[in-house]
Amino acid sequence: MYDVIVVGAGPAGCTAAKILAENGFRVLFAEKFKLPRYKSCSGQLIQKTLNLVEQYFGESPPHSVTCTPAENRGMIFTNDNGKAYRFEQPGLNVWRSSFDEWLAGKAEQSGAELCDETAVLSCKEENDTVTVTFKGKSVYTEQARFVVDCEGVVGALKRRLLNNAPKYITTFQTYNQGSIDLDYHYFYAYLQPDFSEYDAWFNVKDGHLVLGVSVKDTGKIDYGVGRVLFAGEIAGFLNPMGEGISAGMESGYCVAQAIMQHFDDLEMVYSDYRVRAKPLHGYMKRQWNFVAGIADTFSEMKPN
Ligand SMILES: Cc1cc2nc3c(=O)[nH]c(=O)nc-3n(C[C@H](O)[C@H](O)[C@H](O)COP(=O)(O)OP(=O)(O)OC[C@H]3O[C@@H](n4cnc5c(N)ncnc54)[C@H](O)[C@@H]3O)c2cc1C
Repeated sequence: MYDVIVVGAGPAGCTAAKILAENGFRVLFAEKFKLPRYKSCSGQLIQKTLNLVEQYFGESPPHSVTCTPAENRGMIFTNDNGKAYRFEQPGLNVWRSSFDEWLAGKAEQSGAELCDETAVLSCKEENDTVTVTFKGKSVYTEQARFVVDCEGVVGALKRRLLNNAPKYITTFQTYNQGSIDLDYHYFYAYLQPDFSEYDAWFNVKDGHLVLGVSVKDTGKIDYGVGRVLFAGEIAGFLNPMGEGISAGMESGYCVAQAIMQHFDDLEMVYSDYRVRAKPLHGYMKRQWNFVAGIADTFSEMKPN
């Protein structure tokens, strides 16, 4: 019997697993792919993300997780009228595969039992316990008092638990050879409908010119179903302007704290999680509103 089973080794899952394990909880931590796994992401760690890494993981990301140019100097957003908005802020350019593997290693060092190449297939709740079915080399079950589902945007597990399918962003990135007349130290976002239904972007990683487009479908925040709590992108915590990683880490931290404080009171876990995540939720809303304000393509995504 585990105290908590964490699903997914992204920023949300790694943070939740690390915080719970270092506080003496028995944590099993499953990732369906072999680490390091590929994650479609621009890999820009903004200052807020770097601060959270320091706060939750006790140190800065190592040089080995960065790519060239390691220094990011900010973001340049061009709206649907061609107006450019510059956001100058130092950040770090990382490969998500290496960064997330480093986070997972930290969670493991804190005592979380990590099993990669192991997918969580389903969760069944009975008598204050969740029975989780895994598929690794074989299919087997484990039990826990709580599950923290941090499976990211794909959300197959959440779809099985909820009748309403989660909504998500579909993205497509290509890695190209060549050169381009843009400053490689910035992340560029284009909010013009000529490029994508919502946004398109450009950045450079180890000499690759990365071009991406997305089609967006946002939903509300879902905190969980019974003893299966959601954190990170699957819960709906996603900030525009390159802040999915910080939103994942912060919500993973909030859910871990709520479980730790109210382990024997499910209702209190939920209300505490909501209270702790409120500033993040408010910040997210302000950011979506801001992006909606500078580009009509985002206006329908204004949160309520
Ligand atoms: C193209 C793109 C560019 C982006 N650029 C940035 C950026 O520059 N900066 C930024 O901060 N954010 C960025 N984001 C957002 C950011 O990537 C996400 O918001 C963030 O990764 C969400 O973290 P998470 O932990 O919730 O989920 P994820 O990072 O998606 O991790 C979920 C993990 O769960 C695993 N998993 C899924 N299902 C199961 C299962 N059933 N069993 C076991 N494991 C499972 C997955 O394999 C995955 O490893 C970008 C997103 C996209 C799509």
